[in-house]
Amino acid sequence: MPMPEKGTDWESLKQEMLARAGNDVKWREGKTAVYVFNAGPDVERVQKEAYTLFMSENGLGPMAFPSLKKMEDEVVAMGLSLLHAPEGAAGNITSGGTDSITMAMKAARDYARSAKGAKGTLNIVIPWSAHPAFDKAAKVMEIEVRRIPVRDYLADVEAMGKAADGKTIMIVGSAPCFPYGLIDPIGELGKLAEARGLWLHVDACVGGYIAPFARMNGGDVPPFDFEVRGVSSMSADLHKYGYCAKGASTVLFRSEALRTHMIFDCDDWPGGRMITPTLAGTRPGGAIAAAWAVMNFLGVEGYRAKHKQVTDAREKIAAGVEALGFRVVGNPQLGIIAFTHDEIDCMAVWGKLFERGWFTSLTTVPAGLHLMLSPFHLQVADTYLADIAWAVEQVKAGMTGAAREARYS
Ligand SMILES: *Cc1c(COP(=O)(O)O)cnc(C)c1O
Repeated sequence: MPMPEKGTDWESLKQEMLARAGNDVKWREGKTAVYVFNAGPDVERVQKEAYTLFMSENGLGPMAFPSLKKMEDEVVAMGLSLLHAPEGAAGNITSGGTDSITMAMKAARDYARSAKGAKGTLNIVIPWSAHPAFDKAAKVMEIEVRRIPVRDYLADVEAMGKAADGKTIMIVGSAPCFPYGLIDPIGELGKLAEARGLWLHVDACVGGYIAPFARMNGGDVPPFDFEVRGVSSMSADLHKYGYCAKGASTVLFRSEALRTHMIFDCDDWPGGRMITPTLAGTRPGGAIAAAWAVMNFLGVEGYRAKHKQVTDAREKIAAGVEALGFRVVGNPQLGIIAFTHDEIDCMAVWGKLFERGWFTSLTTVPAGLHLMLSPFHLQVADTYLADIAWAVEQVKAGMTGAAREARYS
């Protein structure tokens, strides 16, 4: 498709874009439980206005834009403080979880090379439930990935200890993992890391900005962050349960000395010395500004209130689906829940829910339904339960052939 010779006026373009969006999921109506975190119109407005205020500014230039540097420093400081980081801890805003994980792995690798003289093919040891971002980063850096089967859906610390060797640059626990929404035994992983001198990364991409508040609200959240002494680094996404605009995550290190291994510094080209902490060159000022604005707009009280709605929705849905004969995977404490059924095909249930406008995710092992809940879901939890009850009836009827007969009679 060639570029149009002449430009089109903005009003027409806007109308066309809105028309195209008509085919997208209607996430504002609450029937989408993946991809989008819907904290309501007040937060959306702050994201949008803060983003546009700094949309053209570039986080690559802290001297030109001290405003962005200060906002980044404050966002990172808030993240570190929420996640019990000690004095002297450090971090950066990245473009997302994949970026944070990639940069933490780069830091761990360079640390292993410089501090421990690591050579040859290095590896990471991760639970089977860890996010594919680790494999992507490993692919780029030619690092071997050792995915270790989970035990009761959680990281198997003993097996991970056996899999780790002198070439292991990092072991990983998730808080929580995306498929099950369960927090790995970070305390035990921390002990393993300390005993063996291993770099433990906690992937709190989806949990880092909900778990601290769920705990303040009285949730049964085990120690999962820098409070665990063996934790060297963490990834925590602002654009997930931080309710910030997309394109924002934090990568955090126990000390500035560890963070130093992440930083890229290049002088050998005609443009002068270029120092970049993260994978990006140009860094969107809007994403940094929106993160700063949303965090200050909500504050601890705001996050606690929003996350209370999330965990209430999760509890309500858990009880409801259990009453329908589903089995919740493990004991989820945050915003993700997965559930399976011993007799009914969950994929078929998913299909029926899709017919009713629900766009949600799935798990493969066990075959189950997956929900990543937002505050808004509390308002539609009853609708979801009514629809899944209907879906189960439909699937059951189909299993006996009755539905097919009814359709063709
Ligand atoms: C979302 C997620 C990631 C990846 O983050 P992106 O922002 O999508 O790149 C990594 N780990 C976990 C546990 C996640 O939920």
